[in-house]
Amino acid sequence: MNCPRCNGPLTERTIGPAAVRTCVWCTGTLVRQPQLVGLLTHLAQALGTIDLDAPLPRMGDEGVHLPCPQCGRTMDAFGYMGTNVVTVDRCPDDWLVWADPGELGLMAILHARTTQITDARNAAEKERRDERLRHMALLIDGRRAGRGNIGAALTSDQRRRLTHELGELRRMFELDPD
Ligand SMILES: [Zn+2]
Ligand SMILES: [Zn+2]
Repeated sequence: MNCPRCNGPLTERTIGPAAVRTCVWCTGTLVRQPQLVGLLTHLAQALGTIDLDAPLPRMGDEGVHLPCPQCGRTMDAFGYMGTNVVTVDRCPDDWLVWADPGELGLMAILHARTTQITDARNAAEKERRDERLRHMALLIDGRRAGRGNIGAALTSDQRRRLTHELGELRRMFELDPD
């Protein structure tokens, strides 16, 4: 099998969980589409923490459609993750994805970002939930202990903030103001 880009020989390699073929000359990579996510996850982990907001270079396809190295039919343009940042070639018949040099790395960055953004969102969500529960517990404790007790241990600043937060909580949980 030869490289669809430069006709160089493709050699088999294992990257993480994926068996890929890499062009010896141009370092482009052929991946089976079902293995793509596993490969990108592996590469993304190697990236470590990355800047979520740094602009990415756009890897433009020059509008040249490459032939599938397996069946020879012209491959589709495949915009990774529905973005126009990376467009790879794909043979829908053989489930093969061809990534030109650099495209695999960019896809890994996109993949890492999506995962990090999802993680960050989940963390923020959890933080908000925990915060509400903490406040709820405070409110319940306050009611149980009586207003005077909870107030006495607090500075005026904390009291002001707590009063405000309790007001928010009452609205949030539709409790009666007292
Ligand atoms: Zn090549
Ligand atoms: Zn094909």
